[in-house]
Amino acid sequence: MPIAPKIFNPHRKNNTAKVSVKQTWGNGRGGRPWRRLRIAILERDNYLCQCDDCTRLGLIKVANEVDHIIPLFKGGTDDETNLRAINSECHKKKTAKESRTKTKKKEGVG
Ligand SMILES: [Zn+2]
Repeated sequence: MPIAPKIFNPHRKNNTAKVSVKQTWGNGRGGRPWRRLRIAILERDNYLCQCDDCTRLGLIKVANEVDHIIPLFKGGTDDETNLRAINSECHKKKTAKESRTKTKKKEGVG
């Protein structure tokens, strides 16, 4: 029972479909969902700063921003378990500290 041999074409290339990934997603914060989430976090934390210093020292500061407990660049997420209300001054301090550990010290600026 001979089967008609398939034509073998050695020049035929493997079909590797080109995958084009649109980079429109991941535009970061600023959208409406983030704004809603932000308010949800602030309300959850009673608009009180939940930063390390304030919780440790028992300080009561009004929070008007939302902080990533684990920074995004360290693999943190936008999940509400990774978010907390934070005072803008505390946020600035924390961000400064983080950027110091993230990038090399800039000398003589500021
Ligand atoms: Zn604080």
